[in-house]
Amino acid sequence: MDDVHEGGCACGAVRYRVKNAPFRTSVCHCKACQRRTGSAFGVGIYFKDEDFELLRGSLKAYEFRSDESSRWLRMEFCTNCGTTVAWTAEVFPGGRAVAGGTFDDTGWLKIERHVWTRSAHHWMAFPPGAERFDKSSMK
Ligand SMILES: [Zn+2]
Ligand SMILES: [Zn+2]
Repeated sequence: MDDVHEGGCACGAVRYRVKNAPFRTSVCHCKACQRRTGSAFGVGIYFKDEDFELLRGSLKAYEFRSDESSRWLRMEFCTNCGTTVAWTAEVFPGGRAVAGGTFDDTGWLKIERHVWTRSAHHWMAFPPGAERFDKSSMK
């Protein structure tokens, strides 16, 4: 079937499937994403909540408020290996983000925008033509 993708956490306890095209794809360079991933940025692939299906395992949620927007985010991670697999955010009601790196196949991902680039790591080189926002792209 077209537009069906599966993925999971590092240990394999959590598996998920999404269908239909994401309504938003973004790379976030904010400090919170750098810290939560232990890396340089977060990759968010946003689907309608009903298009996300947990196939196996369970996710634990950790909620925090963005110190930039003061809106909540709930990161959902595998309780065994700690991989953040998905999250929900106050700013996208009815949506669920999947952490881009957890897809089995990442070749289909197209990143529309880079946000919070003002805190991007200094070595970050943006792809030519990438849409970039110093802060959030939300109005
Ligand atoms: Zn796991
Ligand atoms: Zn972020």
